[in-house]
Amino acid sequence: MRKLKPFLFFLVFIVVIFTSCSTLKKTTVFQNSKEATEKPYVILISLDGFRWDYVKRFSPPNLSKFIENGTKATSLIPSFPTKTFPNHYTIATGMYPENHGLLGNSFYSHENNSFYSIRDRKKVEDGKYYGGTPIWVLANNSNMVTASYFFVGSEADVKGVRPSYYFPYNGKTPNIDRVNQVVDWLKMPSDKRPHLITMYFSDMDDIGHRYGPNNDEAIKEGLYSLDNTLGELFKKTKELNLPVNIVIVSDHGMLEVKTDKFISIDAIKNDELYSVVSNGTIVNIHPKNPKKLEEVYTYLTSRKGPYKVYKTAETPYFEYVPKNKNWGPFQVIPNDGYYFTYRKKSKMSKEVFVTGQHGFSPEKKEMHGIFYANGPVFKKGYTTASVKNIHIYPLLCKILELTPPKDIDGNIEKLKNILKKQN
Ligand code: AMP
Ligand code: ZN
Ligand code: ZN
Repeated sequence: MRKLKPFLFFLVFIVVIFTSCSTLKKTTVFQNSKEATEKPYVILISLDGFRWDYVKRFSPPNLSKFIENGTKATSLIPSFPTKTFPNHYTIATGMYPENHGLLGNSFYSHENNSFYSIRDRKKVEDGKYYGGTPIWVLANNSNMVTASYFFVGSEADVKGVRPSYYFPYNGKTPNIDRVNQVVDWLKMPSDKRPHLITMYFSDMDDIGHRYGPNNDEAIKEGLYSLDNTLGELFKKTKELNLPVNIVIVSDHGMLEVKTDKFISIDAIKNDELYSVVSNGTIVNIHPKNPKKLEEVYTYLTSRKGPYKVYKTAETPYFEYVPKNKNWGPFQVIPNDGYYFTYRKKSKMSKEVFVTGQHGFSPEKKEMHGIFYANGPVFKKGYTTASVKNIHIYPLLCKILELTPPKDIDGNIEKLKNILKKQN
């Protein structure tokens, strides 16, 4: 028995360690805790490429009413580069791209020794590229059911967790199907009903790219069709008589760029010396030989064209000094109004076409997006100043009574003035 005692202690020790480790790794929850059932509901809607001035310019009826009875920011300030994936994931995590890791729609990952691209489904769905704690992961880990009808990051197993209900991205899914599914989720019994739901609509980005943001006719037509869909969502959620708060955001705006301002990426390529990763308004340079940095810099600066070469820490437009090594040591930035394209110069038409592009400096007002909110927690008929998109995450945490992780870049102080109850 004496000899058995230390062994039993050891056994108990192992069991305690094992159970505490297994509670660290959370799994997806499908049942709300009792506390979660009593919390409000949040629908976070992203309208890709919705520029800050569209509502003022075209007065879409449903959105205008939504804003009138709720809260808006003058504009939503994106992070650089003002591209879709980095900014959606900044909204989802409250972190700058530098810190959550999605540096662009494409980027090189040293940790994974591979190139990430939004067109590579396997990588889009692979959690190892995604840092931070998306709001649905934070909610899940405090035993709250979540759902997503599309959002950047929602298809990936971030920290081993996905939303309780989600769909792999399919841009062809009719908007009304997304609305009806969200309403069905909200009709589930309260212990199973998601408290955080994300949605995504690409319409304004698609139209903005195709026709440019100054084509009133095209923008208005797309906007009114989207407004109609949103009107259905507002009407159907209201009928449920639940405390639903709706937050509508966009990832960036849009700037008119004529095709004569396109620079073929071929102009700066040198496959022997380095790889290039372009997000149109910033090209990351990754030297193949770390001992030849000087040579790479000399070569790049010797090229002449409508662009400039920077050492990464000195690159303009960032709101911080970029340190993430996945940027690479040098950046090429096009001159004002120019845009890098993967299209070959020989394949580019001589005719000049109007397009819309984004990715430019967040200081350019054309890059600003939207922030509109309506629901029981928000003030009515209230406007707040332009606000950075890093601050949305702590706002959502506050509404859902979740403690934000310590390492986020956003701060609730910047947005809590829009809430009726601020402490
Ligand atoms: P961009 O305008 O190049 O920054 O990217 C916008 C495009 O991203 C949209 O037209 C969508 O097709 C695409 N997109 C949005 N969400 C996702 C997603 N979850 N997975 C893959 N592609 C997406
Ligand atoms: Zn976008
Ligand atoms: Zn776009």
